[in-house]
Parts: sequence; C-alpha cells; structure tokens
Amino acid sequence: MKRILVVEDEQPIREMVGFALKKAGLQFEEAADAEQALVAVASNPPDLMLLDWMLPGMSGVDLARRLRREDVTAKMPIIMLTARVEENDRVHGLEVGADDYITKPFSPRELIARINAVLRRSQAAAGEEPIEYDGLSLDPVGHRVQVDGVPLNLAPTEFRLLHFFMSNPDRVYSREQLLDHVWGRGVFVEERTVDVHIRRLRKALAEQSYDRFIQTVRGAGYRFSIRN
Ligand code: CA
Repeated sequence: MKRILVVEDEQPIREMVGFALKKAGLQFEEAADAEQALVAVASNPPDLMLLDWMLPGMSGVDLARRLRREDVTAKMPIIMLTARVEENDRVHGLEVGADDYITKPFSPRELIARINAVLRRSQAAAGEEPIEYDGLSLDPVGHRVQVDGVPLNLAPTEFRLLHFFMSNPDRVYSREQLLDHVWGRGVFVEERTVDVHIRRLRKALAEQSYDRFIQTVRGAGYRFSIRN
C-alpha cells in the first residue's frame, strides 16, 4: 500500500484528504507543519508527499526546496496544495521541485487522480518502464520513440533529452541543470549546446506537432508539458 504523507496545518482539510486517501486504498499519514513532516520523513520517507504551500513556520515551498537537496528525498514525489492560481506561483512551485500542484478547493476525485498520476510517473522514472503522453511514447529499454504508433528516429542525445523530460514532466530545468542531468556532471559543454539539441528535438517532434510539449520558460529554461 502506497503511503501518502499529508502536510497541512488545517485539520479539516487533513481529515477530508485522509478520508479520500483511505477510500482509494492509499495509506494516510499526517503532519501539521514542516517540522513534523521532517521528523516523519527522517524516520520513514513516504511514497508521496502532499504539501500545503502556506504553513506556519517553514513554508511548503521552503520545505520542498530542502527535501530536494537531501539525497534520500531528492526524488520523493511532491504535490503542492495551493490557494494561489497565478502563473508565476505555479512556475515557482514547480521550480522548487514539486511534481504537480493542486489548487484549493479541489474535489477528492481530482486529488486521487493527480496522486495516482504522479505515483505512476515516479515508478516509470525509477525503472525502465515505457513512458507515454498523449500518443508520444518512449521505450527506454528498446531505445524507441513512437508518435501515434509511428517510429521516430532520434539521435542519442535527443533521445536522452526526451527521456529525461518525459520522466520529469511539468518541471522547469535551466540549461545548466539539463547539462548535469542529460550530459552528466563535470562534462564541459557550453550551455548553448542545450539550445542546439532542444532545437533538433523540437524539429523531430514537429512533424506530428508534438514540439509543443517542449516549452521555453523565459528566463528560466525548458520544460516538458502536455499542458500549455
Ligand atoms: Ca495552510
């Protein structure tokens, strides 16, 4: 059973979420603030954290940032709960390392759907499972990319770039971060090399108009998203 740690200071919301989680066959664990969350995570990291943005003391954003820096929790899936709907806040939340965000108020059904989607993706990213978005599929083992069932030829770097993006959707990566993740740390490559490969990847995807998934975030970098 997947364990979900809900970090939220408002008890009625914790109760509502806990009820929805149990009903969906997920194990509910709770923390009322960042400190309690850190204690819970240190003793037994959950499979996913549902994290409220506005917490007394350390904010949800600061907690997410801190968890991302620690080896043990660097890849722990985090969904932010937020009352904010501004695009800037959304980008900010995803930049600090949240995998997804849910705007309050939300329905239990939407909550469970989002949680299951993030859990599935994190399992896919951890293993060698094929990843699929909207007709675009990538098989890491067979080294194959297909668009609506039609094979797409990608050079090795473009393949690794797309694999990385599809394993980490909706997150903004700077050129430097992409170099670290896709080319490897300590490799001396100029940052504009990233732009060159992004361009090639977009060109390859453009034939079926899937280049829209590779999005430029001005002043921040690039992200893979099926949402606009
Ligand atoms: Ca709150």
